[in-house]
Amino acid sequence: MIYQRSSALFSEAKKYIPGGVNSPVRAFKAVGGDPIFVKEAKGAYLYDEDGNKLIDYISSWGPLILGHAHEPVLNAVIEKAKKGTSFGMPTEIETELAKLAVSMVPNIDKIRFVNSGTEACMSAVRLARGYTGKDKIIKFAGCYHGHSDSFLIQAGSGAVTFGSPNSPGVTQGTAKDTLLANYNDLEGVKALVAANKGELAAIIIEPVAGNMGCIVPTKAFMEGLRKLCTNENILLIFDEVMTGFRLAKGGAQEALGIKADILCFGKVIGGGLPVGAFAAKEKIMNHLAPDGPVYQAGTLSGNPLAMSAGLAMLTELNNKPGVFQSLADKTEYLHKGLDKVLSKKGLAYQINRFGSMISVHFTEGPVADFASSAKGNNDLFKKYFHGMLHKGIYLPPSAFESYFLNDALSYNDLDETIEALETLNF
Ligand SMILES: *Cc1c(COP(=O)(O)O)cnc(C)c1O
Repeated sequence: MIYQRSSALFSEAKKYIPGGVNSPVRAFKAVGGDPIFVKEAKGAYLYDEDGNKLIDYISSWGPLILGHAHEPVLNAVIEKAKKGTSFGMPTEIETELAKLAVSMVPNIDKIRFVNSGTEACMSAVRLARGYTGKDKIIKFAGCYHGHSDSFLIQAGSGAVTFGSPNSPGVTQGTAKDTLLANYNDLEGVKALVAANKGELAAIIIEPVAGNMGCIVPTKAFMEGLRKLCTNENILLIFDEVMTGFRLAKGGAQEALGIKADILCFGKVIGGGLPVGAFAAKEKIMNHLAPDGPVYQAGTLSGNPLAMSAGLAMLTELNNKPGVFQSLADKTEYLHKGLDKVLSKKGLAYQINRFGSMISVHFTEGPVADFASSAKGNNDLFKKYFHGMLHKGIYLPPSAFESYFLNDALSYNDLDETIEALETLNF
């Protein structure tokens, strides 16, 4: 395969866009080489600027759960666009999407639409603080909740229990209100809560993590978190930007059987257009402006094109609930196939999977938190990534990202992927 035109386009992009990309993971920094520029896509396939056809395992990082250029979504957007693209006034379709989302997701009465997952998580935390009258939050190392200041935090040093900035530009003042715990470590969370008694507004978590590879929570961990939050008057925020409308109709809450107090959405809920959302029971959501004092707004929030894509997507998912099982079956098939091939290659590896999320880690495993995920052999991962890419398989270009299967993938595509791995020389 040749990537001549992609490389030329990347050189040109770098002149005018920092790093040549508008979101860092696209730049291939973790795997080396130049990124692939995509020209168009249909179903499970990407077609790049050099004319290569690739089987896509990222589905735009999750949103395109039914495949690229899915007709019902496409047609909804095209028809809507003819009637005007933005008004800054209420439209009926916002209520239609809100009503459908509320009917699909357990434990919520009201939902507010924003433009990205970042905005959803940022606003959810503000709402939690406004509702509880408390300042501090706990997040988990390796979980990603978008790029707002409160989340760009790493563990503090030594005896300090509060976090420190992990990006220049985030102030110490902001960092001190975000505490860090380790995924699947309930005792660690309990210790943080005890040391900050009465000061915690919320614990925010990816209920199945997808930003350090795919990491599944233990039942005891999740149940323990729920109980702890209830007992200590802390709001449990599920960041379902990845898992919402992907793991089940009702997202991770339904798949895990655990209720959260505030839910964050993004990705699938926008059907490939920029949409985020946060939702909760009425008594919490009523604290939000204009009903309540917690301010939150957006010029393009509830944009009609974005709403029409989201409505078409959720309508499809709501009308064919078998799609989640179909996706989970395909992911299990892929898991078994990759497992069979890798076990013959004599490498240390670990495959994690939940529903249609899956990741391969080149480590002895188990991979249950950020530290164990970070132990992965990145040289092997690079060879795996580039080897698969040369055989026409587009995997996430970082060992810290989950694959997102889409339902346009056929069993033939999965077989082709497994065969590609079989012929790969590490
Ligand atoms: C992608 C993601 C976000 C951020 O969403 P953006 O739309 O990229 O701002 C937040 N949380 C999780 C779990 C995500 O996967």
